Amino acid sequence: MDPLKATSSDQLRIKVWQGLTTVMGTIAVILGVWNVGFNNAPVLGLVELGLALFSLLIYRKFKQGRETLFLQYAYIALFILIVGFAILSRPLMNGLFVWPLFLPILFYLSLGARDGFVLSVASLVLAFIVLSIKLNNEVALNASTVRLNFGLCYVLIWGISAVYEHNRMRIEKDLEKLALTDVLTGTKNRLAFKRDFAARVASGENFGLLLLDIDHFKKVNDNYGHEAGDEVLRHLTSELNQSCGSGNLYRHGGEEFCLLVAGDVKQVTVQAERIREDISHYDFGAELPIQVTVSIGVATLEDSNEGAVLLDIADRRMYQAKRNGRNCVVAFDIETTPSEIPA
Ligand code: GH3
Ligand code: MG
Ligand code: MG
Repeated sequence: MDPLKATSSDQLRIKVWQGLTTVMGTIAVILGVWNVGFNNAPVLGLVELGLALFSLLIYRKFKQGRETLFLQYAYIALFILIVGFAILSRPLMNGLFVWPLFLPILFYLSLGARDGFVLSVASLVLAFIVLSIKLNNEVALNASTVRLNFGLCYVLIWGISAVYEHNRMRIEKDLEKLALTDVLTGTKNRLAFKRDFAARVASGENFGLLLLDIDHFKKVNDNYGHEAGDEVLRHLTSELNQSCGSGNLYRHGGEEFCLLVAGDVKQVTVQAERIREDISHYDFGAELPIQVTVSIGVATLEDSNEGAVLLDIADRRMYQAKRNGRNCVVAFDIETTPSEIPA
């Protein structure tokens, strides 16, 4: 399973909705029974019991991993209706008008920043209309003070909800970037490869994969030190990102890189040859008077459309390139189709 999914907004929203429907469902049952049985408000009580059933339905849908977006909006609409109806139908001094204060938190946590904003504005307007109707009919309360306190409190809770959600999204983005980036070179890592590969296959694009392994890299470390070796990896990454597009390069591990290249096997192999040739001429600066070469294994969607399988095939061909004397490209299994290697 993709480990990033555990921290994604979708997963968080599922948890929020499960918690919300559990708590709201329980409260709705208690209030429903109270209003029907003891409070002489059967209509409100029945609607609350309906909300409890609705809560159970949504909870079950989330458990089954089913699509629930329409139901979520319907649930929120029903909740707003119940709150509005409750405020209108009971005396203001019962304090039911505090319920809308809970709405911005509900909107931002359960539906995200954009919908949270729109629904918070709409609910504030609605709450003021309902409150004004009630305040006009009930003279026992100081209307302007109630309005002012309610408005300030609503905006404060709304503000905190918005700040929280925006920060949560930013942190999630930062964490995701961190999880998908190789620390040493700053290029994408294996996890990013896994994600991108699946997306590319789904897009229907024809492409291939190059697995590059630096030849005799151990000698670079032995002769110039580990820090120089690191610099070679960084330099190589930066050059490859410039020549092949930064979205296509992945550090596979150690001194191995993976590159996704558009085209059929012939086009991808021609690219691989060009890249191999370019790397052999890379200049690592006056402080590192060395030349490095790479061995490249090529595999394309004609071999398989599974990332792990394609990596295995490219790896096998890369080792064939090592056996062929290094600084070369292998795009076919030599023993099976030797005559098909493109010139
Ligand atoms: P071959 O041509 O067969 O690939 O030889 P090689 O020396 O490149 O391969 P080998 O697998 O024997 O050694 C790989 C070396 O890469 C060993 C390891 O120290 C070095 N290496 C792996 N990751 C890093 C890194 O992040 N920084 C540095 N400086 N060296 C690394
Ligand atoms: Mg290696
Ligand atoms: Mg190597």
